[in-house]
Amino acid sequence: MTLPELQTLIRDTFGAKDASRGTAGTFMWFIEEVGELSAALRGNSPKDHLATEFADTLAWLATLANIAGVDLEAAVRTKYGAGCPECHQSPCACGAAEKP
Ligand SMILES: [Zn+2]
Repeated sequence: MTLPELQTLIRDTFGAKDASRGTAGTFMWFIEEVGELSAALRGNSPKDHLATEFADTLAWLATLANIAGVDLEAAVRTKYGAGCPECHQSPCACGAAEKP
């Protein structure tokens, strides 16, 4: 599944609810899912549970992008398509103390 396919799937499945909930409410759900992903990563969760938390987090990120009118594939390609956004190399050659 590509990122555009993911955004279309999420829009077709939840678009009406997402639009009525809006950005702020959706962002809170997204952060809740990030917390659940954190808990799954910190614990020794079974692989299938961990995979579910990654799926939930990505789905809520796609929902936010849909609400905001952002094409995730284009955004990722623009920012990371030519390697590290800072040093423009792949693999990144930035120092370990730097953000990327
Ligand atoms: Zn870099």
